[in-house]
Amino acid sequence: MTSVVPLSAPTFGGNEQRYLMECVETTMVSTVGLFVERFERELAAEVGAVGAVACGSGTAALQLALLAVGVGPGSEVWIPDSTFVATANAAVHCGATPVLLAVDEERGYLAPEVVVDELHRRSQQGLPMPGAIVVVHLYGHPADLSWLRYAVEFGVPVIEDAAEALGASWRTGVHGDRSVGVVGTLGCFSFNGNKVITAGNGGMVVGENPAVLARIRHLSTQARIPGSDYEHDAVGFNHRLSNLCAALGVAQLEQLAHFVSERRRINRCYVELLAGTEGVRVVREAPWARSSAWLSCVVFSEATSRDRARAMLRDGGIEARPWWTPMHMQLPYRAAERLGPMRPGLDLYRLGLSLPSTPGTEDATLERIASLVGQAVRG
Ligand SMILES: *Cc1c(COP(=O)(O)O)cnc(C)c1O
Repeated sequence: MTSVVPLSAPTFGGNEQRYLMECVETTMVSTVGLFVERFERELAAEVGAVGAVACGSGTAALQLALLAVGVGPGSEVWIPDSTFVATANAAVHCGATPVLLAVDEERGYLAPEVVVDELHRRSQQGLPMPGAIVVVHLYGHPADLSWLRYAVEFGVPVIEDAAEALGASWRTGVHGDRSVGVVGTLGCFSFNGNKVITAGNGGMVVGENPAVLARIRHLSTQARIPGSDYEHDAVGFNHRLSNLCAALGVAQLEQLAHFVSERRRINRCYVELLAGTEGVRVVREAPWARSSAWLSCVVFSEATSRDRARAMLRDGGIEARPWWTPMHMQLPYRAAERLGPMRPGLDLYRLGLSLPSTPGTEDATLERIASLVGQAVRG
């Protein structure tokens, strides 16, 4: 049966067609064009970054960000066990070795105490530090970055994988009032088809160091020496965003506030509708965070009710998806080194489900979903 209610579908309600037609009419469809520059400028302004580099995908953005902070063969890259596989793949694409860290049992971001303990242990024992730590703002919720000052103290670059979290920010604390992506050394966003905004495909690196950003832009365009006739000073990549994709991205970015407020409304609805239901919890926003609410997730007390809920939703034409499969279970990463307990990532995967979160999903649909979830819990 084809899904009637999608998990997260793109919605086009603005200047998408107009900007795309402009590319066709001006023949500026490739990687040079005004929309690419505009997308970079406007996204940097949106998140409060000094600059941004548009890339062909979020994965490419992560790879270039890691390379730009010096990650390469022989480096360890610390990543959370619970994430989309691209986080780990980007490290491997740099020739580095991903190490899987325990996650917070409530929301699935990097467990702060594991990062802090391991940084101190390595320092005390004179062991090498990781080449970078990639922190993931999972399902759009900002990660707890209370450990960031230790990474700074030990000289470890921190890359924010904000692929799912455009529009999210911290409310309070040292990072209060700042968008995700601009607190670490570099931040990466994704614009694939199901993210908060889409460019068809695409990503962006944001940062505050113009020289580092220039290096990333250079690597993304085959490391071609500017002004030269196809002369190159390094092994670069074809990782630049096309003007066509950027045109879509600019049009979508204009609607960001609306998309985020819709996803947040959907999240509040699930919280209210399931408030009295025992045996399942909606993943709640921390008081210190403002989530993009990319996907609303529920976590059941029993795997049997999670499985039942998934089947009942599927039969009702509603798309729901288990929590990200932990990296320690993924074939390419089963042998990866692990730090801290893998239990929380495994439990979220066994017990968690993401629910439809597309902007515009009607109240009646959300009520139907919540009622099926309630029935699944009651057995
Ligand atoms: C989507 C996603 C990416 C990769 O983005 P692409 O644009 O699909 O390459 C990376 N990390 C996370 C956490 C994601 O959800």
